[in-house]
Amino acid sequence: MSQINSSLPSIDRLVEAFQRLPGIGPKSAQRLTYHLIKMKREESAELASAALGIKDNLTTCEICFNISEKSQCSICSDNERNSQIICVVEEPLNVLAIERSKIFKGLYHVLYGVISPVDAIGPDNLKISELTQRIKNNEIKEIIIATNPTLRGEATASYIRDMVLELDKSVEISRLARGLPSGSDIEYVDDSTLVHALNSRSSLK
Ligand SMILES: [Zn+2]
Repeated sequence: MSQINSSLPSIDRLVEAFQRLPGIGPKSAQRLTYHLIKMKREESAELASAALGIKDNLTTCEICFNISEKSQCSICSDNERNSQIICVVEEPLNVLAIERSKIFKGLYHVLYGVISPVDAIGPDNLKISELTQRIKNNEIKEIIIATNPTLRGEATASYIRDMVLELDKSVEISRLARGLPSGSDIEYVDDSTLVHALNSRSSLK
């Protein structure tokens, strides 16, 4: 982390805190900090309280592990949704991206990462056994694997495919990949590309 030292410890502390955020370099961190200096005290208090609020009020859904304010998220507790289709994603932000496309009416399962031997992340470090339990305990017709079209995303998809087939050969397994740029992140793919990728998902059986 590069340092821009202002000789004022209270300023440097906030600049450093901003720099730990994704996508924020030293200059942006400094700009944000100096913007905060100009803010009214109530505005600063609201910002600090909102930042703490997400730590105090949020949990993960006990079914799909999406971020939620209740033990079951609004998607899992929506009776209008098709509980027989599960879309498996890497991160909660991917749920948001697919929800934005408004085409998917099933439920989700958030893995919290991908299998990555070089980072010592194996299946046990992800929510894969929880997915196994969901398939065992519920009547599931289709698993759509929507991990990112990266090497690790593909490796994770094929691991899940084998795991699902071992459990229950009657479950349809598909992969959301066609039309998605290789190496891309679902979070940044535009809505129409996602709609196309969902509609033209290919069977992995
Ligand atoms: Zn949920």
